[in-house]
Amino acid sequence: MKAIALVFLAATLLPAQTPGRKKRTVTDAEVQRVHSSAILIDTHNDVTSQTVTGLDIGGQNPGHHTDLPRMKRGGMGAQFFAVYVAASYVEGNHAAHRTLEMIDTVRHDIAGKYPADFMLALTAEDIRRAHQQHKIAALLGIEGGHAIEDSLRLLRRYYDEGVRYMTLTHSNSNHWADSSGDPAQPNNGLSAFGKDVVREMNRLGMIVDISHVSDKTFWDALETSGAPIFASHSSCRALSPAPRNMTDEMIQALARKGGVVQVNFSCDFLNPEVLKAGNEVAARRRALRDQLAQKYANQPDGLTRATNEAQEAIPPPRERATLRDVVKHINHIVEIAGVDAVGLGSDFDGVSCVPEGLESVEQWPNLTRALLEEGYTASDIRKIYGENSLRLMTAVERAAGR
Ligand SMILES: [Zn+2]
Repeated sequence: MKAIALVFLAATLLPAQTPGRKKRTVTDAEVQRVHSSAILIDTHNDVTSQTVTGLDIGGQNPGHHTDLPRMKRGGMGAQFFAVYVAASYVEGNHAAHRTLEMIDTVRHDIAGKYPADFMLALTAEDIRRAHQQHKIAALLGIEGGHAIEDSLRLLRRYYDEGVRYMTLTHSNSNHWADSSGDPAQPNNGLSAFGKDVVREMNRLGMIVDISHVSDKTFWDALETSGAPIFASHSSCRALSPAPRNMTDEMIQALARKGGVVQVNFSCDFLNPEVLKAGNEVAARRRALRDQLAQKYANQPDGLTRATNEAQEAIPPPRERATLRDVVKHINHIVEIAGVDAVGLGSDFDGVSCVPEGLESVEQWPNLTRALLEEGYTASDIRKIYGENSLRLMTAVERAAGR
């Protein structure tokens, strides 16, 4: 047993590298050649929360991570745009209203407004076709299962509107699925209706997305789904212990069913030091807010005022993740689950801190260089960038009989 333990210890201490992968230097020409040979698919981008209120994706948007000129320079092949529905829309019963507005911003303000550059895509084949026509495929993914207002009829409507994945929860649990952000866990994972939702998504050909869900919901969804499932924007909990990240056991089980983990670029998901610093800032802000809320107890907007003031008084952490951290997460998934299980789900414009070296959609070639230097082959990179996602989409379409 001791020998085995030592082997395990050695395996964890060695730099994450599969046999045959050797660090090397690469030329600019090689980076360019490999980068343009891949169909780069990012499965999560939140710029839609800005375009819905008027931001022009075709302009220069230096205050944001995303705009069309930089997407082109970054060599992007396809973007799943988040149809993000904040939990606040559940109150007052506006979730479906918001979902339709968010779908419309992708169809109208992005694909519709720039038809020479974007093509609305509904299938894996559409993504390949867009790529051949030198356009960026635009796809729709709902973030937050409360969008369906507990109705399979709405789910079907959203599919007809072009939605091709749905994240079962956001940071809030809904009536049928628990979130990793909710300590209460009211459904103990997926409820019986939640399992019906998953089966209906399978029947339609909509990818089941488990980013944001609780661990129990993940296991229930994986067991229930008749098609591969994915994490549209999550990273590895073994490297940074954020509850939104996946354990090795989850990653391996997902991969065994043909799933893909799309690595998230949020600094705290990538780097444990940033996570720790962020948690400390959050705790200090909460303490100050509670103190101020007492002071403003007689004012109608007292709590909002206290929250805002606490936020302003205590700055965000200075620590940042780097491109190197992204490579570490990719290496880790390759080590434990194989190169077929890795993809990219940046969360650009959905997170406040992105890694040094991957600051916007323009900088994807930096990742190509880093992966080539790490010893990945062009074929590995094409899988990580797009072929794994295309394989998964095709499997989901086939399981639906399409
Ligand atoms: Zn998210």
